[in-house]
Amino acid sequence: MSLPLPDLLDPWRAVDNRSVFAGRLPFSRLPRLRVLLLDTAGDATFRLAFFRDEEHRAVLRCGVTATLKLRCQRCLEALDYQVDTIGLLALVSGIDEGRRLPERYDPLIVGHEPIRPRDSIEDELLLALPHIPMHIPDACGTGTRMANLALTQAKGTGPFAVLAELKRRE
Ligand SMILES: [Zn+2]
Repeated sequence: MSLPLPDLLDPWRAVDNRSVFAGRLPFSRLPRLRVLLLDTAGDATFRLAFFRDEEHRAVLRCGVTATLKLRCQRCLEALDYQVDTIGLLALVSGIDEGRRLPERYDPLIVGHEPIRPRDSIEDELLLALPHIPMHIPDACGTGTRMANLALTQAKGTGPFAVLAELKRRE
């Protein structure tokens, strides 16, 4: 059974309780991600699970899926970027402990203060972003092509001619 995400939580208690939080988080509540998006409407779906692994290590598994609206750096049109990612974070009390982790884990440094679980979701999304967002070549520049076709239509060839033209180009 999963719970709604609190603003703050005690990660050690969440591990002891094997707590699972799931839901949706609007992009508008993720300030670091929001500034990178072409359109901030929409949300990310998340599932956070706290548990101990077979070596008794405290772990947060952070699964996030989202469709992010980015700008293609080739044609400058909008680009829907699918993110489906799972991060494995080991709770550690300092950077030294973090360095000793097995490779599959990223460190999540926590003290005695509560953590903001939303930050981990945002981190996963930021890590999943491409360095240079671009359409696949076949889809790139579609917007420009559509604009040219709209011009043709304006000259009196009609909407069906535009459709036929689109089909022909496929
Ligand atoms: Zn493009």
